[in-house]
Amino acid sequence: MSDLEHTPGPWKISKCECGHPACDSYFINVTSSDGRLSLGDAQLIAAAPDMLDALKGILDCQEHFYTEQGGIRLPEQLSPWGGVLQVIFKVAREAVTKVGGKEV
Ligand SMILES: [Zn+2]
Repeated sequence: MSDLEHTPGPWKISKCECGHPACDSYFINVTSSDGRLSLGDAQLIAAAPDMLDALKGILDCQEHFYTEQGGIRLPEQLSPWGGVLQVIFKVAREAVTKVGGKEV
């Protein structure tokens, strides 16, 4: 795991304002002092696809635990972790939704 620090969020996305009608570019506005990405910021961005896959994997797991009524059903050995798992699922769902994926 990297010990490099990244710029704390929230990071903002802005649309390119070059004025070209065919332009569909976006920029990430990281609030660092000079506007450049640090190595830690670049590594975080590069890891984003893998992290998204990991979050989607977590959300795939939730299907095994939730009942049709919205309750959570856990094997006995996991039952002490029910509250923690619900928080993990919530955070993963919010992060995936933030990426623009469909609500899970
Ligand atoms: Zn542009």
